[in-house]
Amino acid sequence: MHVNSLLPEQRQQLATWLAYLREMGGMDFYRAAHEDYQASAQQEVTNSPASAEIAGSPSPADTIRPAPPEPPVSMTPKSAVLAPPAAIDYSSAAIPADQRIAALQAIQSEIGDCTRCPLAFEGRNKIVFGDGDPNAELLFVGEGPGADEDMQGLPFVGRGGHLLNNMIAAMGLRREQVYIANIVKCRPPKNRVPEPVEALTCSPFLFQQIGVVRPKLIVALGATAATYLTGSKAALSVLRGKIHDCMGTKLVVTYHPAYLLRDPRQKAEAWKDLQLAMRFLHLSPARPSQH
Ligand code: SF4
Repeated sequence: MHVNSLLPEQRQQLATWLAYLREMGGMDFYRAAHEDYQASAQQEVTNSPASAEIAGSPSPADTIRPAPPEPPVSMTPKSAVLAPPAAIDYSSAAIPADQRIAALQAIQSEIGDCTRCPLAFEGRNKIVFGDGDPNAELLFVGEGPGADEDMQGLPFVGRGGHLLNNMIAAMGLRREQVYIANIVKCRPPKNRVPEPVEALTCSPFLFQQIGVVRPKLIVALGATAATYLTGSKAALSVLRGKIHDCMGTKLVVTYHPAYLLRDPRQKAEAWKDLQLAMRFLHLSPARPSQH
């Protein structure tokens, strides 16, 4: 089908998909998959509806580059042991779907004009509670608000948020269908990594939110989220690529969008993490409509 024969909304879908692939480094990933002839491992890639679109447009940069060193893990707490969050009792009745907004509002009211940790006094403008579908099956957790988020009071609305939106779209979902929150709800000055006392003081509110939403899967974005959700100080390379138990549900670890903006070469690796999450949730990647 020639692109000119597509309806305007189909062209828009196609443009979104290709833009995402470009941004996520998916073209690098797909081409390398063909060249490696690792058929079993790459079956999903070669069967992708997008592979035909991108196979004819390789660029000289279409290779998987060696991964640079991971982000330092010095951001994690210094103590050797970090207790993971308590598991949600999934045998207990979930909060009814039509009462979850109110349940989340109750948590937000409890937080109030919070001064429980030092970040309350470090120049924050707005507390960034969280955002999204209170009945979401997929819940993303980042580190903390940045400048844009601090001004708007919403998570992931800056450049990193734009990339996260593309990641979500690539998974065949809309941002409104997921829930998004952070380990800390106030912006650390100069976007520094939250101190353990800040993360450990604030994260129980996040855990309450997770208890209300009860997602099927959590995606930890970056080392800080991974550390406080799993209780493990292991490097991302150790935590990525597997499904973890977390709070009675499951968790996948990937890079933080801000890190991917700094090192776009890792977008292809992040796409592998998202594909793992998609397989778990039985999601199909976004694709242009054929009709
Ligand atoms: S980061 Fe969390 S605990 Fe600290 S002041 Fe903000 S809302 Fe309160």
